Amino acid sequence: MIDLRSDTVTRPTPAMREAMARAEVGDDVLGEDPTVRALEEEVAKVVGKEAALFVTSGTMGNQLAIALHTRPGDEVIVGEGAHVVFFESGAGPALSGVQFAIAGAGGLFDVAAMEERVQGGAYWSPRTSLVCVENTHNRAGGRVFPQADAIAIAEAAKARGLGVHLDGARIWNASAKTGLSPRELCAPFDTVSVCFSKGLGAPVGSALCTTRENVERARRLRKMWGGGMRQAGILAAGALYALTHHRDRLGEDHAKATIFAEHVARVAGARVDLAGVETNIVNVDLDAAMTADAVASAARKLGLAINPSGPRRLRAVTHLDVSSAEMVQAADILRLAIEEVRRA
Ligand SMILES: *Cc1c(COP(=O)(O)O)cnc(C)c1O
Repeated sequence: MIDLRSDTVTRPTPAMREAMARAEVGDDVLGEDPTVRALEEEVAKVVGKEAALFVTSGTMGNQLAIALHTRPGDEVIVGEGAHVVFFESGAGPALSGVQFAIAGAGGLFDVAAMEERVQGGAYWSPRTSLVCVENTHNRAGGRVFPQADAIAIAEAAKARGLGVHLDGARIWNASAKTGLSPRELCAPFDTVSVCFSKGLGAPVGSALCTTRENVERARRLRKMWGGGMRQAGILAAGALYALTHHRDRLGEDHAKATIFAEHVARVAGARVDLAGVETNIVNVDLDAAMTADAVASAARKLGLAINPSGPRRLRAVTHLDVSSAEMVQAADILRLAIEEVRRA
């Protein structure tokens, strides 16, 4: 089975497992796990923040950031299709009591679109307190958030006293694509959530990177939310291995996405915006005659796992555990699946 459902489906490599098996551990709730500390110091350094907190998931990193920046009743400005709104089980309203305002269309937005959504300050209006940027943007098909826009948004937000958070689950992909360092990409933001288990291929974990003071506030909330982990060095060792060894290879995943996209673009009944394929995600739009569900289940029987992301849209994500040759095969399988569904 060629699995393009997500870049989270990777298995730890033998070398990563070896690093995990050898990890020195201690009780991290007591602050005594040396491997967790080493990971937190290293990731803080890589993204250019004072400190970092190892957390169970990207959802926890994002939601801790929302909790740090807001009070109940506040409004958070996000791009269309934001992960914090659509893929985190309603955590923003549930855990922090916030609501969301969507800026712009398609996921990416500029400073003008942001300013349009800042509430006026009347006591009957919700208070805008935070702006969240997602880079790369998942629903937008792995698009890179233009850095000039990120800088302008952060400046305008700070001038108004708003916090700025980066959902950088795939910031490593944005860095590989643009050549800008993670430090440069994260510089405009107060808080940054980064993921070790997407493109980097670690089994578990994300980090919230910010000031030392924010990390200590987040540490309390992490425990409150059930995210205090004991000998988490086993997991941190996988994340540290991934951070050290798997960042430089992300360009390969992007090249694989391009191969897949170019082959699928030639399939009758499928459409791919080739210019929009910037990193490791490919959105495939289907003719009106087919549903994404039908094509996905036909593809699965032929050996390709691919997820619908809309009624007529499929989303393919490349990663460590698929090869370039498999990208050509995957496009072929998709062609067969589409032909089968069109005949039916
Ligand atoms: C995957 C992802 C996350 C984190 O998801 P978890 O499953 O909670 O680790 C956050 N933001 C974006 C944009 C993502 O793609």
